[in-house]
Amino acid sequence: MNLHSRVERLELAAREMAGADAEAVCEAVAINELCETMDAAHAAHVMEQIADEEAEVWSGLTHRFVAMVERRTTTPNDPRPFALPPGVAQIFLDDPRASTAQGWDCEACGYEVPSVKSMSPMQRVWDGYNYIAFWSPDGVYFASCPLCGSAVGQMAWLAGRSYQSRLEEAAAAKRGSYEFN
Ligand SMILES: [Zn+2]
Repeated sequence: MNLHSRVERLELAAREMAGADAEAVCEAVAINELCETMDAAHAAHVMEQIADEEAEVWSGLTHRFVAMVERRTTTPNDPRPFALPPGVAQIFLDDPRASTAQGWDCEACGYEVPSVKSMSPMQRVWDGYNYIAFWSPDGVYFASCPLCGSAVGQMAWLAGRSYQSRLEEAAAAKRGSYEFN
């Protein structure tokens, strides 16, 4: 079965239980939406792993995909781009250390880019008087945003937002508005 009909079938199944579980519908819609931003082979890889109940180990790409769909479902008002373009998806597929947990994002659109947490976080250097301890830098895959080209920094977008607007967004996300007719 090809990817498109698989997603359609998922959506159909979700819509059938819409009355009972609006979240499942949102999830199916989000899956479809995210797949449309992806390379067909990447999307097929993810759908195969999700569908395979025997699969013991998911790829980093599948984990990232599921995390993005979950956030889309629980916080539909999150303004950050919802996309996994080929250049980003391939990194999650190739490098099991790649993660967004280190908080690197685009200062303009907020897109979270993969990075690799430094394996030896604490460095000690003798400056002639004392040992100075510092965290060695994360390995960052993108210096500029793969979507809009703006600069990438650690929490560049998150830190640049006012506390108030973040509060408002969080409140809006909590209210959550699912509308399916
Ligand atoms: Zn951007």
